[in-house]
Amino acid sequence: MTSNLRSLTLAQLEALCAELGWPRYTAGQVFIWLWQKGVNDITAMTNLSKERRALLAERHSVRLPELLRTVNDEDGTTKFTFRLEDGNVIESVFIPDNDRATVCVSTQVGCKLGCAFCYTGQLGFKRNLAWNEISAQVLAVRQYLGSRKSQGESSKSGTAPDFAISPFPFPLITNVPFPLITNVVFMGMGEPFLNFDATIEAAKTINAENGLGIGARHITISTSGIPEGIKAFTQVPQQFRLALSLNASDDETRSKLMPVNKLHPLKEVMAAIRTYTDARGKRVTFEYVLVDGMNNRDKDVKQLGVLLKGIPCKLNLIPLNPYPGCELEAPTPESVEAFARKLWPLVPAVTVRRSKGASILAGCGQLAGLTE
Ligand code: SF4
Repeated sequence: MTSNLRSLTLAQLEALCAELGWPRYTAGQVFIWLWQKGVNDITAMTNLSKERRALLAERHSVRLPELLRTVNDEDGTTKFTFRLEDGNVIESVFIPDNDRATVCVSTQVGCKLGCAFCYTGQLGFKRNLAWNEISAQVLAVRQYLGSRKSQGESSKSGTAPDFAISPFPFPLITNVPFPLITNVVFMGMGEPFLNFDATIEAAKTINAENGLGIGARHITISTSGIPEGIKAFTQVPQQFRLALSLNASDDETRSKLMPVNKLHPLKEVMAAIRTYTDARGKRVTFEYVLVDGMNNRDKDVKQLGVLLKGIPCKLNLIPLNPYPGCELEAPTPESVEAFARKLWPLVPAVTVRRSKGASILAGCGQLAGLTE
């Protein structure tokens, strides 16, 4: 099998051009074709000579992950299931919401952290994704939406009434105006900071002007709390945003919900978060999956007030999205509202996220890479 040109970073493309005796700027041209224009055919790279295109095509492919299927929720959310070159399967989610259109990407095949509220975590870990397998998810979603748009469907509403299985290959049309993807969140399958270098390289490509061109402040990386990763993220020059999956106000509860807390308890994680906010002066989003009777007690309100004191932050409450076999209870809408109200005086900003895509197992913590 020919090697995938999309797996080369710009620096690696420059090295390839040097090896072939081509000018360095050719690498930039190829990168733009691959990531900004998103072509699926090397012969479409029309500002390269025919000979150069032929040589590249002989040695390389530009394959994207194979789209196995899409499933649409009535709320407009679409879940994408992709097969990678080695046969592994991952999922990504497109979430339209008023003036936002967000793609949620995976960073690993499965996850080794086993959070109790998360379907991915129940299915074990297979491998890290390469950087291009992460950024290619955004490109593949953009191309899919483009192909639908060109067929007269709205990329934002995308609402087939029931589960719709898309045939593959779908018609890839790259000369229609790109549908607007405004935000990317690294909240799909896997822990991004256990695949740090690939995550940051992917985020840079998604952000780059010669890449997918999505503003750094519209790219959020969410971690379960890997202190070394948070510290390393503090040094990343781009203005990417950080989210921490908090989910409890004390170690005992957090360790039940998130076994990683036994390795990195709250004190260590929150110290890393404070290092980040002190150094970068930026707000952190704390994600808090609400599990009835476990982390929505009155004492959690008090403990959260203490834990988050002085941190520029937003607390995002997410009522549990149960997955098949999940033994945890989702709270009632009334208790979610009551919990949020008690927190408002204590935390700078509290929001309740009505998780989208829950009916198609595309909500937070529901991705599993299942093909059936
Ligand atoms: S919530 Fe994130 S870190 Fe936890 S098991 Fe799921 S994918 Fe892994």
